[in-house]
Amino acid sequence: MFILLELGLIPANAMTLNAFQVGIAFEVFILSIGLAFRLQTQWQARAAAEREALGRLNQSQLETIEAQKQTRVELELHVRERTQALEHTMAELADANRELKLLSTTDELTGLSNRRSINATLQREWGRSERQGMALSVLLLDLDHFKAVNDQYGHPFGDQALREVAKLLTSVVQRPTDLVGRWGGEEFIILLADTTAQSAVAVAERIRELVAKTVISHEAVSINLSMSIGVAATLPANVQTGYRTPDLLVDAADRALYLAKQNGRNRVELMNEHEAPGVSTDLARSRD
Ligand code: GH3
Ligand code: MG
Ligand code: MG
Repeated sequence: MFILLELGLIPANAMTLNAFQVGIAFEVFILSIGLAFRLQTQWQARAAAEREALGRLNQSQLETIEAQKQTRVELELHVRERTQALEHTMAELADANRELKLLSTTDELTGLSNRRSINATLQREWGRSERQGMALSVLLLDLDHFKAVNDQYGHPFGDQALREVAKLLTSVVQRPTDLVGRWGGEEFIILLADTTAQSAVAVAERIRELVAKTVISHEAVSINLSMSIGVAATLPANVQTGYRTPDLLVDAADRALYLAKQNGRNRVELMNEHEAPGVSTDLARSRD
């Protein structure tokens, strides 16, 4: 219509003059609708794709979380089982250790401390006495003529006698810091912490009397035994005049014991710190 108008082939009136603008406006309107439709379709497609992706993601996340939970439960169960097994083993080990410790520190026949345990206690008590400036005493006790007892009444009787004597010793010595041990054979040792020579001799004397008056019986046999006891005491802190080591203190008690045997048995001798024979309690009753 625009070209025909320009060529003058159609008359100029309101309709032919505005036909160009009307055509443009109509085209813009149609294009707008087309564009809007296209945009909406794309938007819907994208939204659908996103929804689907989200759904897939949630599903796989849920599966992952579920799997993790399952693994954690299994792991906890496993850990608990292993912990229980470990605790059980530890308890058994502790029992075995206690038993082993008891066996390694105890004399089987008498149940007293054995030599190993005595030495450890002696070292410990020596250190404690030294730090606290206290006296420490050692008694060495030996049954008199015990070989003859064995020979005459047999070894089982001898063993029973050793057990009875061990009980007598522990009945006299009762402070928690004191120690009664089997030094070997028919020889016993007693450590008295915080005890002076005088008190140690008094304890030794009580033991000597108790052993002498106790009748030892086993099956048809009943006899009396006696003990010789050597005593030594020192202040471990006093390095000038005392025995300088635990071994020297025990040596001194051993010499006192030898003296008690020499002086007639069934008696107590104290080795004084000048390492000369000490005061005898003068209660000897020789069995020779
Ligand atoms: P002494 O008065 O001089 O000490 O004389 P003793 O006979 O006691 O001393 P000796 O050292 O000659 O003998 C110790 C005896 O102790 C030897 C052994 O028959 C006995 N004996 C040592 N250990 C045990 C034991 O475990 N059981 C028994 N039944 N006897 C033991
Ligand atoms: Mg003896
Ligand atoms: Mg002996």
